[in-house]
Amino acid sequence: GNRFLDYTLAWGPLILGSNHQKINQAVTDQLTKSYTLGAQHHLEIELAEKVVACVPGAEQVLFSNTGTEAVQVALRIARAKTNRNKFIKFEGHYHGWLNNVLVSYKPPSDMLGTVSPTCGGQPPSEYADTIVLPWNDISALEEAFRVYPNEIACVITEPLLANSGSCEAQEGYLAKLIELCRHNGALSIFDEVITGFRLSLGGARSYYNVTPDISVYGKAIAGGFTMSAVVSTKEIFDVLIRGDTMHAGTYNGTSINLAAALATLDVLSSDNCYERMHAHGHAIRDCIEQEAKANGIQLVTCGSGSVFSIHFGLSEKPRNYEDTLSADSTQLHDFRHSLLHHGVQCLPDGRWYVSAVHGEAELELVQNAITLSLQQMRALV
Ligand code: PLP
Repeated sequence: GNRFLDYTLAWGPLILGSNHQKINQAVTDQLTKSYTLGAQHHLEIELAEKVVACVPGAEQVLFSNTGTEAVQVALRIARAKTNRNKFIKFEGHYHGWLNNVLVSYKPPSDMLGTVSPTCGGQPPSEYADTIVLPWNDISALEEAFRVYPNEIACVITEPLLANSGSCEAQEGYLAKLIELCRHNGALSIFDEVITGFRLSLGGARSYYNVTPDISVYGKAIAGGFTMSAVVSTKEIFDVLIRGDTMHAGTYNGTSINLAAALATLDVLSSDNCYERMHAHGHAIRDCIEQEAKANGIQLVTCGSGSVFSIHFGLSEKPRNYEDTLSADSTQLHDFRHSLLHHGVQCLPDGRWYVSAVHGEAELELVQNAITLSLQQMRALV
């Protein structure tokens, strides 16, 4: 019987909420035509054209089901294209649950600087070619390219580190990462499973004005239905077209999910969606920061307007995963608990997702909940 105002959005995908009339209509219409065809059909072409129109530098698109799968396709293409096996990922970055990427995701502080599996059942042979570096550190990247000359196929990064505190790339970092890859014959991959169609219609590419070689999309692209995509240039996708490598999957581009994605992107393309989402998120962040200050509670918020995180106990925005380890998790727990009590839910790691259907009424409700929660926390101190 409890009602909650949702800022978790199922960990991101519900960018139009959980019951959007346009998605419902598109999906129910498609249900009367086909579930899945196991072959190309016109919605796939329509969606590919739409994605190419939205994403700067995109020339070709392939579809898959989950972010996890799409990341693996991107890695395979990069390896096939470069004829190299190693790749770089960063501490605290999440690229799905498979063994080669699920390393050093949330390592304890004594495991920083190592390549550490995240859970049991991960054979070291499966991440033997994974190099892990701290993020936002150009000299670490330069050093890795020096240590492994002509061995690194690609560098994969979340362009905004949403999975570990919504840390933002430092000025020029993403552009330099892309340049270093080009200089060293490696490909740059943006994992835009969170940022894609969320920061802007063109994702992080548009938002930060940078163009990597390959980008991976998921979550928001289909508003809660199961769809992911990889985009790149014709020149890079040529390894697939020529048959030098392959990508398969019974459910890639099922018609129901394609219909949901097209409806989602249609809505997101209209009505100042992104301005409204960013304004809503910034209003929440402002409220948190002002009320914390008024109540003598130290915290910072970071990220964008539509995905951001709170860090209690920090006085500066964290630059990378290691910095987030100094935040006060007890205070975060108390805050979340109090917010829930006042009818608002955000994610356990202090992350918030804003949708295009969070409006003025929701803003008023959440601002009240924040004010009461932070006042209550001061009273406890
Ligand atoms: N990449 C990023 C940046 C993610 O945040 C996630 C999931 O949270 C994934 C990849 C994996 O996507 P999925 O859960 O759809 O497999």
